[in-house]
Amino acid sequence: MSKQEKHFTKVAYDPVDTRHHGAINVPLYQNSLFAFESYDQFDEAMGTLLDHHVYSRGNNPTVQYLERKLADLEEAEMAKCFASGMAAISSAILSTVGQGDHIVCINQAYGPTKQFLTSYLTKFGVETTFIDGSSIEQWRDAVRPNTKLLYLESPTTMLFELQDLRLCAELARSIGAATVIDNTWATPCFQSPLAMGIDLVVHSVSKYIGGHSDCLGGVVLGSKERVSGIGYTEYLLLGGIMTPQTAALVSKGLRTLPLRLQRHEVSGLQVAEHIGKQSYVTRVNHPGLPSHPQYELGKRQMSGYSSLFSFLSDEPIERLKEWAGRLKYFKIGVSWGGFESLVTVSPLTNDAGEHTATVVRLYIGMEDPNDLIADIDQAWSGTKS
Ligand SMILES: *Cc1c(COP(=O)(O)O)cnc(C)c1O
Repeated sequence: MSKQEKHFTKVAYDPVDTRHHGAINVPLYQNSLFAFESYDQFDEAMGTLLDHHVYSRGNNPTVQYLERKLADLEEAEMAKCFASGMAAISSAILSTVGQGDHIVCINQAYGPTKQFLTSYLTKFGVETTFIDGSSIEQWRDAVRPNTKLLYLESPTTMLFELQDLRLCAELARSIGAATVIDNTWATPCFQSPLAMGIDLVVHSVSKYIGGHSDCLGGVVLGSKERVSGIGYTEYLLLGGIMTPQTAALVSKGLRTLPLRLQRHEVSGLQVAEHIGKQSYVTRVNHPGLPSHPQYELGKRQMSGYSSLFSFLSDEPIERLKEWAGRLKYFKIGVSWGGFESLVTVSPLTNDAGEHTATVVRLYIGMEDPNDLIADIDQAWSGTKS
């Protein structure tokens, strides 16, 4: 069985659950507390809150169902679901550092993650060094005796740069630091960081995993030791829990995750190849194209490609925004991972803050890729040169 086939069965199959009359989808447990028949049972449950059902800021059966499905897909011992990707990311990071510790992070990490590291954790004396991260030497040069975390996001979601997961995990282990990776782009279907030695995986389930642009959520996955540690501290104390309604929505989206990604992969590559041939494009950033400088690394550590990519252009930014506005099928908007194609246009700046090129990010949704390609071409020919 290929990895992909296993994913298809994992999302589709659940054993018959007689506690719920064989209900084929997970029931929605819309309750804050759970009552007990005897005080002994209550005392036992209070001792290990996350293994029992006591209170829904802790363990709700609907959320727990999703956690088990996600842990199974990611091949993790344990998963904990959060209110958003940022709640999962901030909790995972906080679990690895204390006052005065040091973090190494890639400089193309998700914006709010960087903001958390630079303008929030610094309040507690935690310092972060940002690096490009494409070679292991940069990581080696950046670590210090007090480095406790290497933070990765591969591929990044604006320029689609990769880090070598195995080498970063090895380096971290040799210095007693933890590794966390934001695996939102690749999803559990296309990249398995835990199998490559990474300690904790985080996802924004608001993207492909939910898949329908109808909810916000996040998840942290890893060993039982690390994730239950987060469960008893950051999860219970900061309280950024996923609601049961969201867990039910995400569970429904998850059923079609491998199926959707199979189509996203093909459509994304088809549109990226077309984009690469256009005169207004100076570079396409898609790890699945042989022109990508880290194409070989991508093939080694990923089993497929999702459908968010970008291109650089030297055309005036106003013309590119006019083009984006003329697109019919691509909506102007942030986020991605749903059924609808999306576009954003933003300036790329160098370290001195000068505008060096324009980055156009495209998300390829579920529409026919031939319609998307025709749309891209009609919109460009309508813009003023
Ligand atoms: C959206 C996103 C996040 C944050 O997730 P939220 O659910 O919006 O909090 C983190 N990382 C990446 C790569 C994202 O795209």
